[in-house]
Amino acid sequence: MSNSGFKSLGRDCPICQGARRDCRESLSTGFVFCRHTEANPGGQWRYIKDDAHGFGVWAWGEGKSNDRPLKVTFIPPKAPVPTLPPAARNTGYRALIEHYPLTPKHRATLAQRPHITEAELEAIAPYLFTWSGGATAPAAAAGLPGVVAGQLWPRAQGWAIAIPNASDEIIGAQIKNPQGGYFWASHADQAPVQLPNGELPLGVYGTPTDNGVVNLGEGFFKPALSAARHGGAWVGAAGGNWASSPHHLRAALDALGCQQVVLNADGGAIANP
Ligand SMILES: [Zn+2]
Repeated sequence: MSNSGFKSLGRDCPICQGARRDCRESLSTGFVFCRHTEANPGGQWRYIKDDAHGFGVWAWGEGKSNDRPLKVTFIPPKAPVPTLPPAARNTGYRALIEHYPLTPKHRATLAQRPHITEAELEAIAPYLFTWSGGATAPAAAAGLPGVVAGQLWPRAQGWAIAIPNASDEIIGAQIKNPQGGYFWASHADQAPVQLPNGELPLGVYGTPTDNGVVNLGEGFFKPALSAARHGGAWVGAAGGNWASSPHHLRAALDALGCQQVVLNADGGAIANP
């Protein structure tokens, strides 16, 4: 750079040691203008300010060094992935269940549970499937919560239970965690598990009885099994948290002709899964 009293420093910048090639020195003041944003020169180099062109201005000599401006990188927010409506979820999950039915191994695992009968297992079989983490998802399941780049969410392996609403549309699924509890089939970059109204899915199992009683049972497997065992209509919620899905619960109870709700805190006599 030859104009207006500056000397181009090329590789000889004392601030960045030549990491940049556009550094310059003012011939009148001796200040060094260096665009390196993280340079940390030793000696008595003091940062003064950034000039209007984005050059850090540095002076040699004793005195107070100013704070260099924070380098701010603006990352635009990711557009939220819209939630899938129930009809699209139903199509996707049913394709998934058909493609990856319960494996004999997982069926055997479930059959070993205390007191469960073959007939009960058969009755809830339509809601059971195997989540083969990392396996290719059928095309119809693309966009489901938990389907990532055409694959089933890879960190989960296990049997899974489908979550139907009162219209028998499958609106979600939970995967059994071998260490205990369940995972939601979901991934941060995918459509959320939550329904379009923001509430988590509740599961509706069984058929309503004439007395208008609707049973609440914690989780999804237990109410599904209770419906097979005791009959009647059962509404399950993850963690027993029906209250956090109030509109969904109201719609389910209305659809079931509910006149009385019975809370089965421990799922009746059924042993914990
Ligand atoms: Zn420099």
